Amino acid sequence: MTRVNPDLAKELEKFGAKTVTVCFNCGNCTAVCPLSESSVAFPRKLIRYLQLGLEQKILESVEPWLCYYCGECSETCPRQADPGELMMSLRRYLTSRYDWTGLSKRLYTSKVWKIFSVGFLFFATLAIIYRFHGPIVTEHTELETFAPAEIVHPAGYAFGTVLAILILSNIYRMHKYIMKGVNAPFSLYISELKTLIVHFATQARLRLCGNKSMWWKHWLLMSGYTVAFILVQIDYPLGEIFGEYPSLTNYPFPPPWHPVKIAWTYSMGAMLIATTIFIIERIRKKDPAHKYSHSTDWMFLILLWCTVFTGLLVRIFMELDMPIPTYYTFALHLAFTVPLLGLEVPFTKWSHLAYRPFALYFVRVKERALQARQQPQEEES
Ligand code: SF4
Ligand code: SF4
Repeated sequence: MTRVNPDLAKELEKFGAKTVTVCFNCGNCTAVCPLSESSVAFPRKLIRYLQLGLEQKILESVEPWLCYYCGECSETCPRQADPGELMMSLRRYLTSRYDWTGLSKRLYTSKVWKIFSVGFLFFATLAIIYRFHGPIVTEHTELETFAPAEIVHPAGYAFGTVLAILILSNIYRMHKYIMKGVNAPFSLYISELKTLIVHFATQARLRLCGNKSMWWKHWLLMSGYTVAFILVQIDYPLGEIFGEYPSLTNYPFPPPWHPVKIAWTYSMGAMLIATTIFIIERIRKKDPAHKYSHSTDWMFLILLWCTVFTGLLVRIFMELDMPIPTYYTFALHLAFTVPLLGLEVPFTKWSHLAYRPFALYFVRVKERALQARQQPQEEES
């Protein structure tokens, strides 16, 4: 039995979709979309589901994750229904439905919750640093003495584990919706793992969009934080294993051509450039993809920009051997990093990075499972 939610379109308005009712289903948007295929056609079908209040159909849909918001459909819509933004709103809505804690919905639909959550994590981090920081050395910059690695790293790993549990449990719920009624064998999940890895690492489908610069900007950002993530993971173990490993955080610092330092500079530079471009595009509002910004888009960009900028400042102050500015800026850097990761990775925009490749992965597994189910039936008939 298909249940109808007559308030669905109204509910979606809170996530940014304000123009669903003006669509008259001409299908132009689906015809021009470079990513729409006959097996997974969008965005018109999703708009129809919304207009009819077919909530379960929306929950089981992967199409919102296959759209990269190039904006071509919005440019050609004769009713200015902005289907591109509608797909973006659906991604926000689905994120809030996958999340079992309910925090995602609050962050997407309430400015008070956004301000409170960011403010709470920001000041709580500063308070923890104030209470637990190590000795303040002023003769030379000794960041590792101010923020002892034996405290910072285990705390980071524990924080990362909590985030991983949250996002993986949400992905599990996404899987349950998408694979409803399809019992795929475990071997299919294993054989299709390549789909997950390739799309996670390359965002290959984004290259199919007409606007090629979109892929480069996203790739720049993604390569930046992938390098940062790897460096944070290997920095401590390497230092522990190789006693002679030059410290990046205590005077005297390794030379500028040290590979880890080059990688770190690339990572910060790439993220700062990409984030600055995204902020400028949202301020200018020239193309359809940046015409409308949800408050969570700003929350993500501002937190990311502040995190990267303070990270770069820490490096600069360290290189200039300015101890006090280094310690203060590092405290600020962590105070921006914690809400950025804590709120964006499991609950809002950054989670999309995981949902997209997983959606493609589940689609592929589902297609193959359905094909396998059809084959014996065809042979019998
Ligand atoms: S969103 Fe616009 S282009 Fe797409 S079906 Fe509706 S009216 Fe047509
Ligand atoms: S924004 Fe681009 S990818 Fe998304 S539905 Fe519209 S045309 Fe397709």
